[in-house]
Amino acid sequence: MQTTQLTASDLSPLTPAYDSILALAPYQTGKPIEELTREYGVSDVVKLASNENPMGCSPRVTLAVTEQLGQLSRYPDGNGYYLKQALADFNDVNANQITLGNGSDDLLDILARSFVGADDAIVYSQYAFVVYPMLAKMQGATGIEVPAQRFGHNLKAMSQAVQDNPNTKIVFIANPNNPTGTQLEQKELYQFVTSVPSSVLVVLDEAYIEYSPESNNRALLDEFDNVIIVRTFSKAYGLAGLRVGYALSSVAVADLLNRIRQPFNVSRVGLAAAAAALADQDFIEKTRLINDEQMRWLEKQFDALGLGFVKSHANFIMVEVQVEMEDITAASIHQALLEQGVIVRPLDAYGLPNWLRITVGVAEDNLRLIDTLRSILTED
Ligand SMILES: *Cc1c(COP(=O)(O)O)cnc(C)c1O
Repeated sequence: MQTTQLTASDLSPLTPAYDSILALAPYQTGKPIEELTREYGVSDVVKLASNENPMGCSPRVTLAVTEQLGQLSRYPDGNGYYLKQALADFNDVNANQITLGNGSDDLLDILARSFVGADDAIVYSQYAFVVYPMLAKMQGATGIEVPAQRFGHNLKAMSQAVQDNPNTKIVFIANPNNPTGTQLEQKELYQFVTSVPSSVLVVLDEAYIEYSPESNNRALLDEFDNVIIVRTFSKAYGLAGLRVGYALSSVAVADLLNRIRQPFNVSRVGLAAAAAALADQDFIEKTRLINDEQMRWLEKQFDALGLGFVKSHANFIMVEVQVEMEDITAASIHQALLEQGVIVRPLDAYGLPNWLRITVGVAEDNLRLIDTLRSILTED
């Protein structure tokens, strides 16, 4: 992957819209299984790097997708009528409060483009989702990173940062947070929202809400027009490959976002699959139960291996690799796991070089991870 710094002279005589664009590092995705097979010749790869659902998706999705295959020459419904109706029912909002996105990343991008100019600021937490600082750079705006508190958001300090920077347009909050798995209490979040001016958008990124139903802050929408909730079908719903997300907001904000988004930003197949996936809440329930059970099992194994971790409320867990262990580093463990066909996520891009983020798999994936990890840690 190309990760070297791009300079103005590389592009010269062309110039990007903002200098900050030159400082963007390409987003590092979890290594695709196909790439590992190509590079190391390992088959039987276990990918625990991108917080995908290890159980796949609801069987209802297959049927819904198949039904669309004869229609691929036709544009999708640009308004996503049926999916929006289903989401409106599910979330108890009106359909005109919904914006659909090509994954929730698309919505985060649309939000930044809609509200943030070069003289503005975006506030986010240290160790929060890496896309937020990237969006500030893309808009030529100021990114304000507020130091984390026990790996989670320090809402008091974030509120102060908003006060100190009157040009703040958006605050991004991931709840539960990726990559640390921390969650915020509803009361705390409520206080935060009341503490910021109503001219500042508070974006609650609830990508892992299905794993932590108590983090559902849908109720805030009824009281605050500056709150936006962003959700995705990529994680618990198991549709990461199709790219569907949605935002819930006030009618006016949704109206604006719907003008900025591309007219056909969700595909025909994506719309049908998401509606079918949403209708199968038994699948989500089963996903959550298995995740909880496997999370407890993994915590026990990490304890037994003497590896520290941060208590997680999502479908991944952040594990610390002790620096005292001389020649063993998070990077060397990551590499050794790759060579044995297990993909996890290094966190250098988050400023957490001694940590690995590991997605909770199904039982056999987790067993393979722990067996491989044990053999790496005990060999010398
Ligand atoms: C995975 C993730 C997203 C983006 O998911 P999409 O696939 O673009 O819907 C957004 N926010 C957080 C915190 C995530 O972990």
